[in-house]
Amino acid sequence: MKPEERQQALDAIATEVAACTQCPLHAAGRTRTVPGDGAINADIMFIGEAPGFHEDKQGLPFVGASGKYLEELLAGIGLKRGDVFIANVVKCRPPENRDPKPDEMAACKAYLDRQIEIIDPVIIATLGRFSMARYFPNGKITKIHGQPKYEGGRIYFPLFHPAAALRNANLKPVMEADFQHMTELIAEVRGGNMPDEEPPDEPPQQLSLF
Ligand code: URA
Ligand code: SF4
Repeated sequence: MKPEERQQALDAIATEVAACTQCPLHAAGRTRTVPGDGAINADIMFIGEAPGFHEDKQGLPFVGASGKYLEELLAGIGLKRGDVFIANVVKCRPPENRDPKPDEMAACKAYLDRQIEIIDPVIIATLGRFSMARYFPNGKITKIHGQPKYEGGRIYFPLFHPAAALRNANLKPVMEADFQHMTELIAEVRGGNMPDEEPPDEPPQQLSLF
C-alpha cells in the first residue's frame, strides 16, 4: 500500500471509531475515542489495553503515567513513540478504568485487525494480558513475558503492561530486560533472519528505524 493510501485507510478507521456505537463503552462517558497513533509504516506495533483518563481527554494512546514510562522504555532502546505505532484493544475508556469486558473487546476487534493489516508491522509487542490474549490465548504473562513467538512472518512479543511495572517496582528491571531483548529481535529482522519461519518469497522486510 502506498503511504497516502495507508494514511487514508487509517484515517477512515479513526473516523468510524469516532462515531462507533458497537459496544456499551460508547455511552459510558467517553470524551474522545482513541483509535491509535504513530508511524503509519511502523515495523513495531505496541498494543495496550484501553484508554485511561488522559487518553480519553486527548484522544491519544499512552499519554498518562503509563505512557511516560513507555516512552522511557522506548528511549532506553533508542526509539521514540513516533517510530512505532501504538494502539489498544478497545478504543473507548472503560468507566473508572475497569478492565475491558469480553463483549467490548469482541466488538472492537475488527478495528485493530484492520489497523494491523494496513500497518503490517514485523513485530507486535503486547502490553498486558488483554492484548497478549489475542496471540497467546492460554499464556500466563508471568511465564511468557519476553518470549517471542514467530508466526506468519511476524514476531509476537508479550510484555507486561507498563502500569503493572509502575505499581510493582520489582517488575521494572524485568520490563527493561524485555525491552533490551526486543533490540535483538529488531536486529534479527534487520538481518532478514526469521528463525522458525519458512524463508519468505519476497526479500525480507528491512526495518526502517536505524
Ligand atoms: N493504558 C493502556 O492500556 N492504554 C493506554 O492508551 C493508556 C494506558
Ligand atoms: Fe466502538 Fe470499540 Fe468504542 Fe466499543 S470500544 S464503542 S466497539 S470503538
